[in-house]
This record gives sequence, C-alpha cells and structure tokens, in this order.
Amino acid sequence: MAMALTACGGSAERGYDSAPTDSTATDTTTRRQLPPTVTIAFTGDIMMGTTFPDSIHGTHLPADDGKHIFDDVREVISGATFAGGNLEGSFLEGPGKRRPMTNPRTYFIFRMPPKYVNNLLEAGYDFVGIANNHINDFGEPGRASTMKTLRDTGLAHAGLKGRCETAYVERDGVVFGIAQVGHGDNNVDVNDLDEVRRVVKNMRDSADIVILSFHGGAEGGAHTHVPHKAETYVGEQRGNVEQVAHAAIDAGADVVFGHGPHVVRAAELYKDHIIFYSLGNFCTPYRMGIGGITGHAPVAVVEVDMNGKFVGGKIHSFLQARGKGPLKDPTNAAARQIRSLSLQDFPSSPLLIADDGTLSRR
Ligand SMILES: [Zn+2]
Repeated sequence: MAMALTACGGSAERGYDSAPTDSTATDTTTRRQLPPTVTIAFTGDIMMGTTFPDSIHGTHLPADDGKHIFDDVREVISGATFAGGNLEGSFLEGPGKRRPMTNPRTYFIFRMPPKYVNNLLEAGYDFVGIANNHINDFGEPGRASTMKTLRDTGLAHAGLKGRCETAYVERDGVVFGIAQVGHGDNNVDVNDLDEVRRVVKNMRDSADIVILSFHGGAEGGAHTHVPHKAETYVGEQRGNVEQVAHAAIDAGADVVFGHGPHVVRAAELYKDHIIFYSLGNFCTPYRMGIGGITGHAPVAVVEVDMNGKFVGGKIHSFLQARGKGPLKDPTNAAARQIRSLSLQDFPSSPLLIADDGTLSRR
C-alpha cells in the first residue's frame, strides 16, 4: 500500500520540515515490520516540453500531452520502492514573471503545462526536486504554480528555502526523507555546507532512509569530471559537489544523487553509501541539447539496507530522442560512461559497474 505521508508544501502552507506525525516514525522496533532492503530509483533533469517562447507555441510540446514520453522507463521507475528526479522548469499557465534576458543565445526558460504532472505520476515518480536554476524562470508566479500543481496532485517535492525544504514519503512501510539543494535564488543552497547538513539532520529523526538530491556543478561536455574543488559556471557558484555529498553522508544521509551538468558524472561508494555525482539529462526532449553524451539518460536504481548502506543496484541506460524522451539503449552507453568516469575520478572506490550497469562492491 503506497501512501504519501507529507507532500512538501503541506495543505495549509504551514512551511517546511513537516515530518510525519503518526506512529510509523516513532515506534520502529515493536510495531513496524520493515523489509530488509528497499530500492531507490533516481533520474536527472525532467523538462517534458515548454510553451515558451510563445512565437513558436506548440512546437516544443510532445504528442498527446506527453502521455508516452515515459513509456520505455515506466517499468524501471515504478518498479522501485521509491523514485525521484529533478524537475527542470515550472508548471505554469499564463505569462508569469519572466527571468530578465541577459544573453539571447543562452536565454532558455521553461514553462511546462501543469497537466503534464500526470505523466510523472503515471511514470511512477514519488518525488521531484525543484531546487534548481529553472524553478526561477517565471518568478514567484512560476514557483507558486509549480508547488500548487505538485501539491494538488500529491506528488512530493522539495527544494525551496524556508518554504519547502524536505519531503517525506512512506512506501512499503518505510519512511523516505528527501531534500534537494541547488544553486540560484530561493533554493536551499548547494554552496552552503551548513545548510546541507541542517536539512539532512532535520530528516534523520523522522525518516528510515534519508536521501539528498543536489543540483550542482558546471555544465556540458567539458565538465564530465568531478573536479574535486568548487565550481563556477556562467558566473554562478555551482558548489563543491564532492564536499556536498560527503558532508551530507557524514551528517546522516544514506544515498546522494546529483544532477545539473546535463551530462553524467562518476559514482562512488563513500563509507558504504552510494553517491552519483550527476545523472545528466533524463527527459528533456525539447530546447535542450540531447546529442552525443548529453543524450545519455540513465535511471540509477540502488538497493540499500535499513541502515541505508549499499547492497547493490543497476544503472539502466536510455538514450533521448527529440520529441520522444528516453528510449531503451541496448548498448548501455550511459552505464559505460558512468563506469569510465568513476574509474578515472574515484579509482580507490570499491564500487563496481558491470557492462550492463549492474552495481556491486569490489
Ligand atoms: Zn539546471
């Protein structure tokens, strides 16, 4: 029986860190039967289509309101105990308050029709993170409409500072706590390690499994490596993603998923907890580059025990096609790319990635 305990944002806008209040979170030993392990699926950027710019309205929207863009991935996503991804844009009708244009060549802002939220539910998502640069594309009207759309649908979400910082979802009797940090105004800040620690610690007492999702790192094919230092991109601070991930685990997080570079990056095992530094693009069939490695669209599925420690998993590889979203990739290109980068960037990590993406420990 699946139940969302608390979709972040709450029914009465009561703020952030709304933890589950029933007995499931407090009586762990005598009343609850927890499974020995759970599986967690996560994906990178999701931007299903945009109604902006208006001059070409309609040309950047998928057929049938996107009902089929998750067809190839539905089985993997819905098969996990808990599934999440990064929502890279606003759910909004109407003009909103557009981000000012500074450079026409890089002015990409995304406005998804609110009804597309149903595609996420039908794909099997339990959560989307909204701490990223594009949540601000249409100002406060965009942020408010996105949160309302998610709240009305019952899809848990988190990411906005002081407003919607963490979310809790119960699946199979297990309470998952999840936060997302990112760069840009209004987000819980990926550049502030104290803030990262604070949101993780806030979840630790209320959740069985604590997940941190982060949006950080420079973008594009020149930035596939984890640089082991703070990154800046287009004049913005994009975090020291290795420090963020390690600080989160040291503060009590069990699993860490990154995204933001639009390409995949390495994975590592740190103190028996798994970190994916970037899951790249996932479902961005319009207005985003999806050629070459930017088309790699993995679903990371990890199995953890009730201490949040890595047991196993698999990187399922998909490739994006314009207008279609992620499609099955029999060549396993995304998994092989993550393996190659992991061997280069974290050579002493005990994580093993097989040809087909199967994850194990050395
Ligand atoms: Zn982004």
